Amino acid sequence: MERSEVKAEYKWSIEDIFPSEEAWEREYEKISSKIDFSKWQGKLGTAENLLAFLKEQDEMEATFSKLYVYAMMKQNEDARIPEGNVRLAKMGAFGAKFGAALAFVEPELLSLPEETLQSFIDNPAFRDYDYQLKSLLKSKPHVLSEAEEKLLAMSSEVTGSFQDIFSMIDNADLDLPEIEYKGETVRLTHGLYGKILGEEDRAKRKEVFEKYYGAYIKLKNTIAANYFASVKASVFGAQARNYASCLARALEGNDVDPVVYQNLMDSVNENVSVMHDYINYRKEALGLEEQHMYDIFAPLVEGANLSMPYEEAYDLVVKALSCLGEDYQELLRRAKRERWLDVEETTAKRSGAYSINCHGVHPFVLLNYQPTLNNIFTTAHEMGHALHSYFSEANQPISKASYRIFVAEVASTVNETLLLRYLLKTTTDKKIKKYLLNYHLDQMRSTLFRQTQFAMFEYEAHKMVEEGNPLTTQNLYDLYYGLNQKIYGDGIVHDTEIGYEWSRIPHFYRPFYVYQYSTGIISAISIANRILGEGEPAVADYKKFLSAGGSLPPVEILKLAGVDLTSKEPFRVAMQDFADTLKALKELD
Ligand SMILES: [Zn+2]
Repeated sequence: MERSEVKAEYKWSIEDIFPSEEAWEREYEKISSKIDFSKWQGKLGTAENLLAFLKEQDEMEATFSKLYVYAMMKQNEDARIPEGNVRLAKMGAFGAKFGAALAFVEPELLSLPEETLQSFIDNPAFRDYDYQLKSLLKSKPHVLSEAEEKLLAMSSEVTGSFQDIFSMIDNADLDLPEIEYKGETVRLTHGLYGKILGEEDRAKRKEVFEKYYGAYIKLKNTIAANYFASVKASVFGAQARNYASCLARALEGNDVDPVVYQNLMDSVNENVSVMHDYINYRKEALGLEEQHMYDIFAPLVEGANLSMPYEEAYDLVVKALSCLGEDYQELLRRAKRERWLDVEETTAKRSGAYSINCHGVHPFVLLNYQPTLNNIFTTAHEMGHALHSYFSEANQPISKASYRIFVAEVASTVNETLLLRYLLKTTTDKKIKKYLLNYHLDQMRSTLFRQTQFAMFEYEAHKMVEEGNPLTTQNLYDLYYGLNQKIYGDGIVHDTEIGYEWSRIPHFYRPFYVYQYSTGIISAISIANRILGEGEPAVADYKKFLSAGGSLPPVEILKLAGVDLTSKEPFRVAMQDFADTLKALKELD
């Protein structure tokens, strides 16, 4: 379908940002020549100047947000339109120029005496910037002399290459073979691999599993050497900046207490038996004598699906989230009425789904709605992001409105969990109930257990290098294979191929990132349980979380919603939830 054929009510109200492309162009022309903060250089040492500068920066940030979000949305509507691509490229250059114009700020502030910085933080006039300045002050021991910083900046061109090298291997040089699929000869791709692994044809699953891994195994030594180099680069960076370890650097950068990472690894270690139970259950339910790694995504419940058109699905989401209060529901209705969402799949539109906030306007949500159960969950998920942005924006100044990645998937997963509970309560169809319970278990398997397996792998690999040991194809294989045996137990055959899974994970080139998926779902399950168990007081706490944006360290923000990741409690709740869901699934047999 072409975009022009879509009814206006299913297209997002991009005109809320700029009434026309010409209006965008005018604003862009006006502002892009003004990115110049040089008049402040060398003058940020007084409260009066710093405050004036920060306000000016906020204004530029707000305009940038509008220009950028418009350019991105317009391009995403139809990637074939050249003007849209040009506009987005212009914003890329604008962003780089903006960053460069502000490059003097951090070094200048850090060169001020600690007492001066502290006096700004204590000054009530800086209330909008206190967290930002506190974070800056905390980074002071890790900032080096000007000459050393210059060298580090120069070296980053080299030390940052390994991600690009992996991307070349993964997207250009990887020799994925042709396969026979649905009567046609097609080239295996990353997307097709994932699709077939979730299908019922077992022989086909086995075939693509072996062929897909086969392609990586041919390059195993190259990828291992590249990953070793990448880890060495992060060890170099952490040591150069006087951090105790790579992990300490990553967590301090996100302002996350290291005990959170430890709690996550410990709780999965202590509770692997619930995953083993699930794996054993799957083996039985699928009627397999031997369960293999390529069976792990196979559908457990055949032919169950809850299919409904968008209008009905949206109403269902609003109803399912009634536990969040009338105000939350009214915002959901308003979002639909005022066209925050772009619903239909059209030619050359960006695939998938996302939510993006436009400062001073409202959030927008891109969907490619299809009438399936997954799409109903996606709608709830993206509206979770959108309303998180909405609450934060309504309650925080621009300098504190954006939330960090660490908490970014919490609100979306809370919505999914509440929708799931609602459907389980209201559905009488046993097949659909089973499907939903299994959907939840699979989501926890892939988001909680699998990402923690990755987190454990990164933890050990970095430790090995920090202790002066090399990473080789063999020891990476042994490490990963061992973790796989631990997590999945003996209800499954640990095929040789799975020992090479590390070689195909792009996220490993962004050290200590993936654990946030696990802590996100753990937090969301805790919050959803509290809301359903305690009602109003828990909802009020949750709205404090939604309204906090990035105004505090992320672990503190979660505490507002009653989730303390520095304790073992939320981890225990999530593990119990997994065990309870499995029990409910078994009871339906
Ligand atoms: Zn999300």
